[in-house]
Amino acid sequence: MFLIRKEEAFPDYNYNHILDITPDDIKAMGAKAVALDLDNTAAEFGSFHLIDGVKEWTENMIASGIKVMIISNTWISRAFILSRQMGGIAFIPWSLKPLTISLRTAARYLDVELSEMAMIGDKLSSDILAANRAGSIAVKVQPLSALKRNSEAAQFLFGSAK
Ligand SMILES: [Mg+2]
Repeated sequence: MFLIRKEEAFPDYNYNHILDITPDDIKAMGAKAVALDLDNTAAEFGSFHLIDGVKEWTENMIASGIKVMIISNTWISRAFILSRQMGGIAFIPWSLKPLTISLRTAARYLDVELSEMAMIGDKLSSDILAANRAGSIAVKVQPLSALKRNSEAAQFLFGSAK
């Protein structure tokens, strides 16, 4: 039951950061909708604030005709607060990723095929596994915490760019 097949853990696409993903990228993947992870993807772990740019990123996706919905393993009040910051988009908290039930629910709600939904997330063991198991498009970003560590390490090693 907890067996993970090797191919299930591979993303279809890799990005560094959520803001690197454009509406054209999503369309080129064959997707009409985005299922978005929160922690370490759109907000720092446990934070009640989106990282800078994600609000505009979401608005830009929606303006480009791409539906966006939150699928997060976080609790309901936090998912609610973060969704409000994205214009009140629909969200599924306690999503139980890597189980596929939340992705299937989201696809039905958004009226797209599972294969037309890109799941964007930082975690192989939840987001990417769930996407692959659901037959959705698996889009991996680097965890925000890792990006932060890397830039702190670079700053320590090489000094500030300023
Ligand atoms: Mg995450």
